[in-house]
Amino acid sequence: MAATVVKGALVIDGTGRTPIEGGAVLIEDGRIRAVGGAADIGVPEGAAVIDLGPETILPGLVDAHTHLSIIPGLGHQIGQLRSNAAQAALRAIPNMRTDFLSGVTTMRVVGEEHFLDIDIKAAVNAGRIPGPRLLVATRPIAARHGHGTALTASDGPEEIRRHIRENLAAGADLIKYFATGGTSSARAAADTCFYSPEEIRLIVEEAHRDGRPAAVHAHGGPAIRYSVEAGVDTIEHGKLATAADLELMRNAGTWLVCNHAIAFHPDGIEKGDGGNPQIMAKLKISRERSPGTFRLALNSGVRWALGTDSMHGLLWFEAQKAVDFGATAEQALAAVTRNAAEAIGLKDSVGTLEPGKHADVISVRGNPLAEIGALRNVGLILKGGVRYDHLSAQ
Ligand SMILES: [Zn+2]
Repeated sequence: MAATVVKGALVIDGTGRTPIEGGAVLIEDGRIRAVGGAADIGVPEGAAVIDLGPETILPGLVDAHTHLSIIPGLGHQIGQLRSNAAQAALRAIPNMRTDFLSGVTTMRVVGEEHFLDIDIKAAVNAGRIPGPRLLVATRPIAARHGHGTALTASDGPEEIRRHIRENLAAGADLIKYFATGGTSSARAAADTCFYSPEEIRLIVEEAHRDGRPAAVHAHGGPAIRYSVEAGVDTIEHGKLATAADLELMRNAGTWLVCNHAIAFHPDGIEKGDGGNPQIMAKLKISRERSPGTFRLALNSGVRWALGTDSMHGLLWFEAQKAVDFGATAEQALAAVTRNAAEAIGLKDSVGTLEPGKHADVISVRGNPLAEIGALRNVGLILKGGVRYDHLSAQ
């Protein structure tokens, strides 16, 4: 493949280094070869040049927590996961396209039935449908009486082991389990823990023995401590986490993956489940508590990243909410690039513009370090050096 030089008014390479004015990225064979001042990079013979003029060049965004087939605004999210494979795929493919065309070039999918995410990932990798790089959890491990239980329930050591091993056999990149209640289902409070400490230890151990990370849906209550003590890699949501939980996580090096859009954006849970008083009562608690919890997390020194949790195309809004709740623009940008990549185990291949990494490169109008909302205005989208932003016009 011939080389490509991408030039723009500013290059933010995502490493935390000072942005480069009048910068350029040299791409060869789908990989980044060099990043620097446009004059230093030059234009190798035969290279194509993409000159973005006043735009800012960034690493492709990383969404650390989402689902393909869920549309929160349609309501009854678990019911959506229970729908048949064709219905789920008909939602998933346009959702993924929306995410991709918002500049998300890597996404971690944390729960789908029918092994839908495995098939979609294969189709994306084969070039049959456009989409981000995917890490997939396939079927979530969830207790019969718990939240997140769609078609597959896993109780006790035998079922848990069998379902995890079936997931791994099918190609799961990680194991996701639901330990607590959630906002989008009516039954249990978000700090109820459905699994015993023994079951949680078993889930994490089964994942780790196969060299895969474990991610837990846990808002608060004892599930966070059980999971951190078991060695879980990422706590998802953590909206009711206490200072003690966050300190435990920081000391263990456990990542917190936050999401606020689904609770705060008008197209989120409110749109879909506004008629369900139990869910709305939980949403009210979530809205009241999560900004404070997020500030606690910021002060605790815990490592954190962001995910949209199915709010397709709205990773920019996640970053905006993080800033609204006290993060700096620099922290919020890191949480959707470098830190998100590290949280999901891909720090060596994506998340920053550095030589050797995949050429996942986007541009935005404006400077997100000055105004994080600039992430909304995506222009160029390259994944592996291949250009996709023309799809936005179709
Ligand atoms: Zn989720």
